[in-house]
Amino acid sequence: MLFHTHILLGILFFLLLGRLFPPGHDLLFFLLVLLGSVLPDLDSQYSQINQWSGVIGKIITFFTKHRGLLHSFFFHSFLFFLISFFFPFSYASALFLGYLAHILADGLTVQGVQLFYPFSSYKTRGPVRVGGLMEEIILLVLVFLIIESLF
Ligand SMILES: [Zn+2]
Repeated sequence: MLFHTHILLGILFFLLLGRLFPPGHDLLFFLLVLLGSVLPDLDSQYSQINQWSGVIGKIITFFTKHRGLLHSFFFHSFLFFLISFFFPFSYASALFLGYLAHILADGLTVQGVQLFYPFSSYKTRGPVRVGGLMEEIILLVLVFLIIESLF
């Protein structure tokens, strides 16, 4: 899905589940969830995050395909354990929560995602076309749910 859809779903996930993180560092956890929710699209040269990341994004797109390794549940589980080895468990959890938000959205698209890449080519997919009318509707619903959960 598009960048702003991922960001909005990341915001919603944080609003719904952010209280599970240790108190006092809300902004940090919020930013980690947001980062996690856009990070998988580093593998697409057309994505916002890829363009912001400059040469890092170029290297990543050279070695990976879109919705391949960087969208894989296995890869993110591995990343989760790696990060939680060096940083607090809650930081890794926040990033992983963002990833789950990302995968939930991409899993609804016609193109789908290979959750178990590279071990299986099985795809989770749905009826949503990226940038299409249904994504616009999802965007509106997300905005509504975010406003709703703030009050
Ligand atoms: Zn994606």
